[in-house]
Amino acid sequence: VFWNQQVEMLPRGDMAAWQSYKVEKVIERVYEKNAIYKERMAELGILPKHITTLHEIEKMPFTTRRDVAVNYPYGLLTMPISGVAYIHNVQDTVTGNTAMSYTRNDMIMWAELIARMLVAGGVNVTSVFQIIAEPEEVAGKFSMQYGLQQIGATLVPQAIGSRTDMIQMIHDFGVTAVFSRASTIVALAQETGKIHVKPEELPLQNIFCDMQSLSERTAEEIQQAYGIRPVGIYGMFDIWGMGIAGECHCGKGLHLQEDCFYPEVIHPENGQVLPIGQTGELVLTSLTLEAMPLVRYRTGIMCSLDDSPCACGRTLIRMIKT
Ligand SMILES: [Zn+2]
Repeated sequence: VFWNQQVEMLPRGDMAAWQSYKVEKVIERVYEKNAIYKERMAELGILPKHITTLHEIEKMPFTTRRDVAVNYPYGLLTMPISGVAYIHNVQDTVTGNTAMSYTRNDMIMWAELIARMLVAGGVNVTSVFQIIAEPEEVAGKFSMQYGLQQIGATLVPQAIGSRTDMIQMIHDFGVTAVFSRASTIVALAQETGKIHVKPEELPLQNIFCDMQSLSERTAEEIQQAYGIRPVGIYGMFDIWGMGIAGECHCGKGLHLQEDCFYPEVIHPENGQVLPIGQTGELVLTSLTLEAMPLVRYRTGIMCSLDDSPCACGRTLIRMIKT
């Protein structure tokens, strides 16, 4: 089942053409509308006209979380604040505060990406969805509700309180799908005895976990406890939210939303772009974000990419976590 079959099954050649077009546009945008990007590009002697093919993006400097923190809150905007509809901010005294700004169109994009990701993982209009997130995971969940609204699923109140309260809520509200950190959902399975049910007796059908929290071992623990294979999804808790990539039922990696994010895998030390299939650090360029596009953002995530056909029919490239 697809949310947006046209995009999710776009032939690879058409996707590359779209990405190439959007990369040119985003580089023009940051050069013309943001002084920091313009200055950095000038230092390297790069003009937007020097980047006309997809792989020429390699000429552009990377951006990092530090850049976002140093230029907090509005330094990386490409428009006046009046064009911004929503700001997502994470206070972090150690690594620096971050604030990400989004236009109305940007929020519509997130809703679309979340809807695609959740539908690929089994959510539909009959789903009763609950977000079980730790306080610091607020960015990962901000966009979830918009995607759920698109699908028409039911979003129940967020679980707060003790773990027993959380499991009681899943039971009482008839929750069929959750987004949770893997360790939390494992811990919840041990609480079910306190409300006199077995984990497999809960109405749960779909368990979504942030990819970074989901190891092979925790995935097995979840499968054993609930009889459900967890679905890995990818996003960030401080920069961009969940929705960048998500698993389909094939479990062969996470389909990356390539029409909105152009992926590269680089050698983490020398920054060289690695061929498809090799493991390195994931670098993402936002292709459609308007307010605060990031070019060649270093995610810090180690993975490889796989563009071979997937049995689900999606042509979107897959991230394979290592
Ligand atoms: Zn697939």
